Amino acid sequence: MQTSEDCNKHRRKIDRKSCKYKNILLKETGIKHAEEPTKHLMICNAGLVSGISECEVVELFSEYGSIDLTTMLFVPQVQNNSVTSLPEGLYILNDFVTEDEEELLHKCIDWSKSTSNIDKLILKHRNVKHYGYEFNYENNNVDKNSPLEESIPHKCLMLFDRLKEKGFYNIVPWIPDQLTVNEYQPGQGIPSHVDTHSPFESPIISLSLGSDVIMDFKHRDGRKVPVLLPRRSLLIMDGESRYDWSHGITPRKLDVVQSLEYGLISKERSVRTSFTFRKIHHGACHCKYPFHCDSQQTSAVISNNDASQLEAVHVHQVYEEISSHFSETRHKPWPNVANFVSSLPSGAILVDVGCGNGKYFGANRHIFEVGCDRSIHLSQECHSRGNEVFTCDCLQLPLQSCCADGVISIAVIHHLATYERRLFALKEMVRVLQIGGRGLVYVWAKDQQKGNNMSSYLKQDRKNRRKDDINNQSRSNNERTGENSDSVEVTSDISLPVHKNRTQFQHQDLLVPWKLKTNKDIIFYRYYHVFKEGELEKIFLSITDAKITKSYYDQGNWCVLFEKIK
Ligand code: MN
Ligand code: ZN
Repeated sequence: MQTSEDCNKHRRKIDRKSCKYKNILLKETGIKHAEEPTKHLMICNAGLVSGISECEVVELFSEYGSIDLTTMLFVPQVQNNSVTSLPEGLYILNDFVTEDEEELLHKCIDWSKSTSNIDKLILKHRNVKHYGYEFNYENNNVDKNSPLEESIPHKCLMLFDRLKEKGFYNIVPWIPDQLTVNEYQPGQGIPSHVDTHSPFESPIISLSLGSDVIMDFKHRDGRKVPVLLPRRSLLIMDGESRYDWSHGITPRKLDVVQSLEYGLISKERSVRTSFTFRKIHHGACHCKYPFHCDSQQTSAVISNNDASQLEAVHVHQVYEEISSHFSETRHKPWPNVANFVSSLPSGAILVDVGCGNGKYFGANRHIFEVGCDRSIHLSQECHSRGNEVFTCDCLQLPLQSCCADGVISIAVIHHLATYERRLFALKEMVRVLQIGGRGLVYVWAKDQQKGNNMSSYLKQDRKNRRKDDINNQSRSNNERTGENSDSVEVTSDISLPVHKNRTQFQHQDLLVPWKLKTNKDIIFYRYYHVFKEGELEKIFLSITDAKITKSYYDQGNWCVLFEKIK
């Protein structure tokens, strides 16, 4: 049954769309839309990309009356941002195999012997088959100790003799030991990703059979290069193109390609089979491209100016927007934090810096608590539960020095984007404590698993995984090919990697997506600086009036207990 709310939503969607197209019409042609019906009609999204010709438009609409004139209009978006030269290190070898060889290679894949349960789940979407080695779900990597029974079909190896003959021995000095065969139906694609660096040598080699396709290469500096992979061509991704560019295939049934005779034309895809060959690499990656490198996850260099801008948009603003949904998910206190609060003596004053909805209020009925949070909505929520709370930034607590007996700050300072700001926030907490007062700080750990101590964040993933395998094709695809997510531009000169939810962290400065329960299409990106072991303790070395009394790991968090000493 359609409710009136559904109707309204639908109405708003149509309004937004018509507004967008009116703007396109005005911008591209100077024609203003009319409020009253006229004999002119604009048809949007008919053209190259959707593969609809002028003839078809005329045919479709002649049913409704005679047509005076049709004009095809091009919105100059097609080539926007695109550059023509290939990314460095990328080679396309056309007609690498003959049509006979194409058939032969097709035949040597026995899909009936498709392997694991996980593969069967994926089969619903796309045929995938591995040879040589299987990818490991736990660490998004290849398990080098358990080779598969089936090794790479012998017939494939002639491709590597041919590479040698063609003078590519310098670039491909090895024989592959891992092969992934993918069968893409028209309309299927693969999300943009970088093949994880350390598990594989360079280059990554992929043979396209059955259909041409456009593969989109993207650099985080904004460069985009659509690369045509013709049927029977070999793609070699080496150097920058392998380590520093992401690649993906947009799911659609047609590609717009440049033809010699006709200029831009649209071309239908058919079933495409790709053979991706990789060579297992042992040890760390020593490439020159640390940004996507799983072996060289350095933290981002962020200036103080950029930091406050980043926090404003990707912390403060996001928490305002997601506050009610966020609050619903935050009700269970961490036992060790609750124990700390309970340990404060009767009559003590406790400050909760970044109290959120106030889940640590009430853990000890014999103390006086005051909370603060940067989010107006969250502090209101906390206040509505009858708590004492004010809205402020943790870099500037509106409290007198030496007024508190205890301070807690749970999952707050990992949202600060520079070392200086994290130091400053801790100094503020120490400042409000009186001598002998105690504090507890929790921050997200980069390492989400220490021995048996796994974060609830990762545990959640195991529960959801089976569901996800069925529901979420792109996620499964990502995991199976050992891929990293893309990045998002956060200021004019900084892009940060986007974390794949509920997996181990690859970077220290990153964006964690948040999807609203009510509208899963809108993704919010929260900024985090996740801490390495010992990093939180190191900050305290610069705080002379406090000493660490204990530090520990608690389900994905690094935690420090401290005391003000002078
Ligand atoms: Mn790939
Ligand atoms: Zn690397």
